[in-house]
Amino acid sequence: MSINSSKDSNVIDLNRSLREREVEIELLQETFTKIGSEFDLERIFEIVSERARELIKAETVLIPLLDENCETYTYRGGAGKNVEEIVGESLPLDFGVCGWVWKHKIPWWQGVLDDLDDEEKNRWEKEVGTMVLVPLQGRKNFLGGIAGIDKVGGKEFSKRDLNLLQMFASIVSVAIENAIAVKSIEDSNKLNEEYRERLETLNKQLTESSKELEYLSLYDTVTNLPNRSLFHDRLSRNIDRARLENSGIGLMLIDLDRFKDINEALGHEKGDLLLKNIAERFQAEIKPDETLARLGGDEFVVVLPMHDEKNTLKRAKLFQQQLDKSFVIEKTSIAVSASIGVSLFPVHGEGISSLLSHADSAMYVAKHNNLDISLYDPEMSHLTRGHLTMVADIRKALEENQFELHYQPKISISSNEIIAAEALGRWTSETRGIVSPNIFIKVLEQNGMIDEYTYWAIETALVQARKWSSGSRQIRVAVNVSPQTLMNPGFIKNLERIVKDRDNGQHLIFEITENIFLSEYDRLFEVLEYICFLGIGLSIDDYGTGYSSLSRLRKLPVTELKIDQSFIKDMNDNKDDEAIVRSTIDLAHNMGLVVVAEGVETRKALMLLDELGCDTAQGYLISKPLPVDDFDDFLESYH
Ligand code: C2E
Ligand code: MG
Ligand code: MG
Repeated sequence: MSINSSKDSNVIDLNRSLREREVEIELLQETFTKIGSEFDLERIFEIVSERARELIKAETVLIPLLDENCETYTYRGGAGKNVEEIVGESLPLDFGVCGWVWKHKIPWWQGVLDDLDDEEKNRWEKEVGTMVLVPLQGRKNFLGGIAGIDKVGGKEFSKRDLNLLQMFASIVSVAIENAIAVKSIEDSNKLNEEYRERLETLNKQLTESSKELEYLSLYDTVTNLPNRSLFHDRLSRNIDRARLENSGIGLMLIDLDRFKDINEALGHEKGDLLLKNIAERFQAEIKPDETLARLGGDEFVVVLPMHDEKNTLKRAKLFQQQLDKSFVIEKTSIAVSASIGVSLFPVHGEGISSLLSHADSAMYVAKHNNLDISLYDPEMSHLTRGHLTMVADIRKALEENQFELHYQPKISISSNEIIAAEALGRWTSETRGIVSPNIFIKVLEQNGMIDEYTYWAIETALVQARKWSSGSRQIRVAVNVSPQTLMNPGFIKNLERIVKDRDNGQHLIFEITENIFLSEYDRLFEVLEYICFLGIGLSIDDYGTGYSSLSRLRKLPVTELKIDQSFIKDMNDNKDDEAIVRSTIDLAHNMGLVVVAEGVETRKALMLLDELGCDTAQGYLISKPLPVDDFDDFLESYH
């Protein structure tokens, strides 16, 4: 019976283990088919770890794989207890049991301990607990391993578990290796795609910036008008067409008057804004097929296809009219005028450069003769050719000290005493004869020579004023100082060098035009304060012709106001002018300013000024500007 029963139990055991075997084989087979068709790496890790767990009945299964850097391994997948905490973790290659397996390329399980020497045995015994770890050897590379941790029910992993897991590992390793390869291909595809996209955006950017470059190379950024290159291109096309059609072209060169002063007074930002506004007004006059371009600075050019002399001059007038209304830039009202030079295809030239240079010389003729518009006249061209050499001549005059100062007396209207003199620049050129200061001062300003000239004028006037004051009279000398020089960063230093102290300063007055008050306020204030500190008087010249208001002047250390001669000249016959002079005198007196009338030519004018309470008079009635010696004689004989 006992034999039978033991036989029976053997049969039962055998059956159970056969069934188990069957289940295991089924599991392996199923795993094999499942992951064989799976390429998603994460999903494979999931399947592998779950099946392995079932197979060896482990609480936890983990899949540590070697990283590409060959310095670390990472738990890439897992199933069972606490895997969330471990999966994703990276450790150094030689760390823990994994490190041992990587090194020996053989599986780890409890049984291995027996084969270790005592020292290693001691170390691992404490560290490993119940664990089985088999290597994952791919076809090409060593991948890492599969680890089972803690057998369900607290038992130890058996040799059989180890064998099963090893078999399992050998089946899945190839699938894992393939999936890794697929993933890396996918990754690199993705990377490629990203590169391609980046390349595409780069290409797009490149096209855009080359478009922008093309725009920049053809258009002016301040006004958005065509620039010189595009103008050349358009004009040359127009010329080709006009030749074919036997028609004419009108070319207009528009140059703004005194724009440099305006720009300096306004500051460049507002100056640019003004240019933009001007360009817009001109643009309104342009019809299809016509070109308005900015050549640079304050120069515009207009190409009018199918135009003859009459049409072109008519159109030029319309462009002029666009400037009739003043411009308002940030609440400042600015009057702008321009001189227009006109040349015609084909009568004045058949090529771009001759047409342009002829329009240019016509423009100069307009400027010098105070004309709005001037048509190119071959007779006049020698005059304008002189312009370039003028700059050279003036440079030479400065170097060779050809300039002189003449002095014009200013008298106190109440006492008739000569109290001051205005120093006015004079130049007699060897080749040109007398050149008006209105012209040479402008050339000096436009060619960066005005500072040098002004320092010379201040120095010369100071020497003269000291001479006069050492005699019986106290005569202050007024020097005209260009805004450009006054606002120059080096001005204060140079003044310090020339004037030195109040003892000298009190002999001088600086005449500045009122446009200076549009300059940057803080800087202007600093300069004017310094002038004041040196005891130098400050006079606002040509008051009434520019852009300022008495309320603005009030805030600055100004001592004197010179009413422009245009008001004084007409004052006796023009009630408006008289009213302006009267109210200006009153207002200025209220502000504690001395009032000077310039351009006093008649006794009648002087009497009216006396009546209006004006303090000082200057003009031909008293004396024209005189060379020093004549001025001395004048002083002697005065009274
Ligand atoms: P400004 O400073 O307003 O000088 C007065 C101008 O009016 C002078 O012309 C003077 O000769 C002229 N004038 C004086 N009294 C009368 C008169 O009764 N009737 C008429 N019709 N004119 C009179 P000028 O000497 O030709 O100088 C012209 C302008 O040139 C000056 O105007 C001034 O702005 C500028 N200028 C002259 N010398 C210098 C200088 O050394 N430096 C600077 N920056 N500008 C100067
Ligand atoms: Mg003056
Ligand atoms: Mg003046």
